[in-house]
Amino acid sequence: MAQNLTQALILQESAVCAHNYHPLPVVLTKGQGVWVWDIEGKKYLDMMSAYSALSHGHCHPKIISALEQQSHKLAMVSRAFHTETLAPFLKKLCELTALDCALPMNTGAEAVETAIKAARRWGYQVKQIPKNQAEIIVATENFHGRTTTIISFSSDQTYQADFGPFTPGFKLVPFGDSEAIKRAITPNTCAILIEPIQGEAGIIIPKTGYLTEVAAIAQDNQVLFIVDEIQSGLGRTGKWFAYQHENVQPDGVIVGKALGGGVYPISAFVAKKAVMDLFTPGSHGSTFGGNALAGAIGLAALTTLESEKMIENSAALGDYFLAELSKIAHPWIKTIRGRGLWIGLEVNTNLIQARDICLKLLDVGILSKEAHDKVIRFAPPLIIQKADVDWALSKIKLVFS
Ligand SMILES: *Cc1c(COP(=O)(O)O)cnc(C)c1O
Repeated sequence: MAQNLTQALILQESAVCAHNYHPLPVVLTKGQGVWVWDIEGKKYLDMMSAYSALSHGHCHPKIISALEQQSHKLAMVSRAFHTETLAPFLKKLCELTALDCALPMNTGAEAVETAIKAARRWGYQVKQIPKNQAEIIVATENFHGRTTTIISFSSDQTYQADFGPFTPGFKLVPFGDSEAIKRAITPNTCAILIEPIQGEAGIIIPKTGYLTEVAAIAQDNQVLFIVDEIQSGLGRTGKWFAYQHENVQPDGVIVGKALGGGVYPISAFVAKKAVMDLFTPGSHGSTFGGNALAGAIGLAALTTLESEKMIENSAALGDYFLAELSKIAHPWIKTIRGRGLWIGLEVNTNLIQARDICLKLLDVGILSKEAHDKVIRFAPPLIIQKADVDWALSKIKLVFS
C-alpha cells in the first residue's frame, strides 16, 4: 500500500515536473537533524545534505526559531528600504572572510553572476581594460551554476548542449595547474575564478600550494583572485572556508548553500571595498536579495555554525570518517578522498556505476548522490555525531561486502 503510494507520487511528479534531475526513488516527508523519513516510515541518514545546503541538519531549532520570529515581524520590503537585519548579517560575513562589503543575493548562481559583473567592472574602471575585452580565467571541470553566462565557461557538455550561443570572455585552464593560469593571463585578464576544491566534479582537491601560487599570480599581474565557496565554504571542509587550508586572502569570496541554514535560499558575493564600491545604485540588484527574513536566517546560520562548533566537528569527524572509509577494500572502489565532512568515493566504472551504489546505499538507509557518474559523495550535516558516523560505516561496509 505505502509502496504503491510511493510509486504513485513519483509518477505524479514525473508527469508535471521537468526531468532536469534524476532523483533516487524515495519520497521524503520529514527531516530532523541528520535524519530523514520517507512516506513509508523508513528512516535514512542524510549523507547528501542538499549538496551542502544542509550543513546545520534538517530543521535546526535555532534556524527555525530565527525564521519564525522574523517571519512574524517583517519578511520582505526589498532593498528600496533599510531593515534591521541586513547589517548584522553582512558584518558577520565580512569578518569571517576578512573582506569589507557583501552583496546579498539568493541563489549561488546569482552570486557568481554578481562576482563576474564586479570583476569586469573592476577590469574596466580600475585596470583600464579596453571596453568589452575583459577576460576571466576559470578551471576545467568547474561548476559555478546554471545561468547561460555561467554554463558558457563550463567544460561539461551535459551543462551546455543546445543552450548556446554562449557568453564570451572566459578562458579555461586545467584545474590544479598554476603554470597554465600564468600562461593564460593577458593584459585584459580581470579575474581568476575557481573553486578551491571542486565539488560537482567529484570532490577534486588540488595539490597543496596551488591556491598560494594562484593568489601570487593574481597579485603579480593585477588580477582579482575570486573563490567560489558556495559548496566548500562554511565549515564543509573543516575550516570556515576551503581557501583557509592555505595562507591566502582572496579578493572576493562567493557563498551560498549552507548560508541559508537549510531553510531558505541566501547567497552573497563578499569583496574588498575597492571592488564592491564599483556597484552604484541601479547597476545591479535582486528583488529578494538581502530581504529582512534572509538577514535574520543568514545571521543565525553563521552564528549557529560557530556556537555549536560545527566546523571543529567537521574537521575531527571528517578525518575519522575518511580514515575508516579508506580501510574498506573492494574492487568497486578506485579511490577515496576528502577534506572535513566532504568525502568522495570514486568507483571503478568498468565494474559498477556510482548511481548503482547510491541505490544500494538507499536500501540500507543512507542517502547519497553521485557526482559525475563515478563519484559517491558522503557529505552529512556538520552536526553529525560519532555514533551516527559509526552507524553509517557499518551500513556502507554492508554495501561493499
Ligand atoms: C551549487 C553551486 C553553485 C550554484 O548554486 P545554486 O544555488 O544552485 O545556483 C555554484 N557554485 C558551486 C561551487 C556550487 O556547488
